Amino acid sequence: MSLARNRLVIVPADPEFVPETGSQDALRNILAALAPPDAFRIRVHSRPVFVDPGGVGEICCPNCRELLPNAWWRLAMAEARAGGFGRLLVRAPCCQRQTTLNDLVYEYPARFGRWVAEIAEPVRAPLDGETRRVEAALGCPIRYVRVRG
Ligand SMILES: [Zn+2]
Repeated sequence: MSLARNRLVIVPADPEFVPETGSQDALRNILAALAPPDAFRIRVHSRPVFVDPGGVGEICCPNCRELLPNAWWRLAMAEARAGGFGRLLVRAPCCQRQTTLNDLVYEYPARFGRWVAEIAEPVRAPLDGETRRVEAALGCPIRYVRVRG
């Protein structure tokens, strides 16, 4: 039995982007008000990994906002996973337009990334100013995934 731990996960908006190594210390410093230093954990993967918030809920098409069948998403995820999530492109069944698994509208936001920073049990969400400073330090726009413990 493990303790439930809520986590805030930070990934670059571009799943393939890996910030420079020194930027990790900047991240800890900028977000020091959210959690103690040992609550931060950063991992770099050779291929993007799926950051699951603990169930994505309903999934909508980013183009036409149509609700997407869960069975379609599971199949698309299985195909992408077989390729190590190196290719996230999909064609939405509703409007036949191309998008990516990373850009689908998830009820509980989920993302893909090679560079994944985790903060265990943050006391609050990052402020807009903190987010902008993190983005400047990492050299990329970021997205948050709130993982329910
Ligand atoms: Zn659509």
